[in-house]
Amino acid sequence: MNFDTALLHGNFGTDETTGATLTPVYQSSAFGQESAEKIEKIFNNQAAGFAYSRISNPTVAAFEKRITFLEGGLASVAVSSGMAAITAAFLNILKAGDEIISKSSIFGGTIDLFKDLENLGIKTHYVAELNEEELRPLINENTKAVFAETIGNPKLDVTDIKSAADIIHGFGLPFILDNTTATPFIVKGISLGADIIINSSSKYINGSSNSVSGIITDSGNYKWTAEKYPVMREYIKFGKFAFTAKLRNDTYRNIGCCLSPMNAFFNTLGLETLGLRMERHCSNALNLAQVLEQLKGIKEVNYPLLITSPYYGTAKKQFGENGGGILTIRLYTKQRAFAFINRLKYAINITNIGDTKTLVIHPSSTIYAHSTAEEKEKAGVYDDLIRVSVGIEDIRDILDDFRQALEYVNSEFPTGE
Ligand SMILES: *Cc1c(COP(=O)(O)O)cnc(C)c1O
Repeated sequence: MNFDTALLHGNFGTDETTGATLTPVYQSSAFGQESAEKIEKIFNNQAAGFAYSRISNPTVAAFEKRITFLEGGLASVAVSSGMAAITAAFLNILKAGDEIISKSSIFGGTIDLFKDLENLGIKTHYVAELNEEELRPLINENTKAVFAETIGNPKLDVTDIKSAADIIHGFGLPFILDNTTATPFIVKGISLGADIIINSSSKYINGSSNSVSGIITDSGNYKWTAEKYPVMREYIKFGKFAFTAKLRNDTYRNIGCCLSPMNAFFNTLGLETLGLRMERHCSNALNLAQVLEQLKGIKEVNYPLLITSPYYGTAKKQFGENGGGILTIRLYTKQRAFAFINRLKYAINITNIGDTKTLVIHPSSTIYAHSTAEEKEKAGVYDDLIRVSVGIEDIRDILDDFRQALEYVNSEFPTGE
């Protein structure tokens, strides 16, 4: 089944009780059962069914099922945000004294989370690339997982998933991949060896920015052991379901980061058009990047599928024609960057990506406001950098908008080039 068909017919049919083409919104906190025996079985995972929406909910389950199919995983757990997904995935396997290795070019919120985890005794080491040379010196008996983003937000570096997974598995570790910026439309991380996939479904999956949410998809491929992951001891018996069983029955349920049924419904609704939207996001972004490269007053244009990108080869090999919907530009100074943002007519100045509308942000003064100069540099965040999440508008209008803003900035604040 091809991707656009899978979005509509994957592993699900119409709603079992009503025939509705999308599972309706079961806006209910709890679900009554006909007998004490039945609810006992549900609580003990011996029968299918629903008890309480912090544990599971039919509308949320319908969304999880679709993402599991699209990512090619074993099971998914949907949560209240992308950050909750990353938090729950790590707390599911780690304890004080453990260590993580992460690429440094990751989302600012995730860097902040890894700082918080230090207070719980969990240390993160950063590397620029997931290769033997960088990883080997950092790995010891406390190292428990390696983390990266498919396309770093906003550095736009591309992780070679297959190569990274092989190296990480060579060290006996699981590979946790944040696929938010790519989505399963561009690449399915599990098919290339990633063990756990994170998606902030607030972004492209939802598509029109109406719900904050996240989802964790387990491949079932990593062999968890009680020796290495003592917090998982009770769940090892579930075999390939160990990670999800612990997540659903313990971490997710006890943290309480459940997704609301209404937001799950909006996500499923948005998901059905993911392929159509991503095609347009990707072609618009490539088009805009290529045009901006030719204009005066721009120091640098970054987009994975520009031949000038250091990640062009990996992007082409792994993604084919679709390099994602995000690009960044550098305008020489912060003053020019601010003036440019203020001058844009259609592009909205906002901290978000993956909306149908074109969005821009100055990451250094916003998302990375809590980061040190060194962290910013490693994440590819500079004072003159603007991140653009290219929408699905008619590209001619977006091109005009960017051209007029640049002309204005060049005349008011010349670079002196
Ligand atoms: C937005 C984002 C997150 C966090 O997701 P929320 O839904 O906002 O909590 C995590 N990773 C990446 C790559 C993101 O872009």
